[in-house]
Amino acid sequence: MEVDIRNWNGRRYYSLDCYLKQRFGTKLYKLALNGGMTCPNRDGTLSSGGCIFCSGGGSGEFTPSVRHTMEEQFEQAKALVRQKYDGSRYIAYFQAFTNTYAPVEQLRNLFFPVIRREEVAVLSIATRPDCLEEDKIELIRELCRIKPVWVELGLQTIHERTARLIRRGYDLPCFDRAVRRLKEAGAEVIVHTITGLPFETPDDMLQTAVYVGNSGADGVKLQLLHVLEGTDLATMYRRGEFEVLREEEYVSLTAEILSVLPERIVIHRLTGDGDKRLLIAPRWSGDKRHVLNAIQHELKIRNLRQGCKAVTV
Ligand code: SF4
Repeated sequence: MEVDIRNWNGRRYYSLDCYLKQRFGTKLYKLALNGGMTCPNRDGTLSSGGCIFCSGGGSGEFTPSVRHTMEEQFEQAKALVRQKYDGSRYIAYFQAFTNTYAPVEQLRNLFFPVIRREEVAVLSIATRPDCLEEDKIELIRELCRIKPVWVELGLQTIHERTARLIRRGYDLPCFDRAVRRLKEAGAEVIVHTITGLPFETPDDMLQTAVYVGNSGADGVKLQLLHVLEGTDLATMYRRGEFEVLREEEYVSLTAEILSVLPERIVIHRLTGDGDKRLLIAPRWSGDKRHVLNAIQHELKIRNLRQGCKAVTV
C-alpha cells in the first residue's frame, strides 16, 4: 500500500490511527482474546523463568480468562471498548504468551472461526520467531487469504549480549528468518522493541531501531522498560544493578528512534501500558497520557527547530 505522508494528521510519524483510516476507512479497536497458550520460555522447554522482564501474565494482563468461551470473550472485550468506540469492526488480538505455541490443528480450530467473524477486520497474533515452524507459516498463509493477519514478534533488542541477559532465548538470524517467511506468507509483521534495557546505551537502542527499519517489518511497537513486581528484573533493580530511564531520556530517545525509522513503518505504540499494580519503576510511566503528550511536544519542538512548518498534535 502507498504511504500517504500528507495525511498523517500533522504528526511526525506514521501512526496506527492514520494507517487504519487509510487502509480500512475507519479506526478499529482491539479486542484482547485468550487462546490459552503458554510460552516455551516459561514452561521449561527453553527456560522456566521466562524473559527477565515478563510478569506471570505473559504480557497480557488485560486479556480475559481462558475459562470463557470465545463467544464470551468477544462480548467481554467489546464491552470494554464500547465507551470509546461505537463502530462494528475490530482487530481480534491474541496477545498473552506465545500464540503459535500449540499443535497446528489446535491453532487452526482457534483462528479460523475468529477470522471468519464478520466483525473481525484483522487477526493479530503475538508470538515468538522460534515458534513459527513451516506448518504454522502455511496456516498463516491460509489465514491471510481470508483477511489481513498481523504477526507481532517480541525482538526487544538486536544486541546478543542483552538478548542473553534478558533470556530472550533465540538469536537474531531466527528473527530475520521469521520476518522473511511471514512476509512471503502475506502477513504484516510488527516488531516489539524495548527502550531502556539494562546496560544498553542510546546508540545501542538506535541501532536496534535502524535494524528493525531495514528488516522488512511493517510496524513497530515501542515500549519503555517496565520493572514489574515478581520478575527477575525487579530483583536486579532492587540490588541497584541498573537504573531505569528518566522521563526526559525516554521522550528524547523515542523522538530519535522515530527519526531513524523509515516513513513507511507504522508506529503501533509509543509507550506501553503496564499493570500499575505491578509497576515498581519507573513510576513516572504510570501516567501514560503525560508521557504521550511529552513525546508529541518533543516532536513538535524538533520540527520547529528544523525550520519546518508547525505541526498539529
Ligand atoms: S516470550 Fe513473551 S511470554 Fe514468553 S517469557 Fe518472554 S515475554 Fe514472557
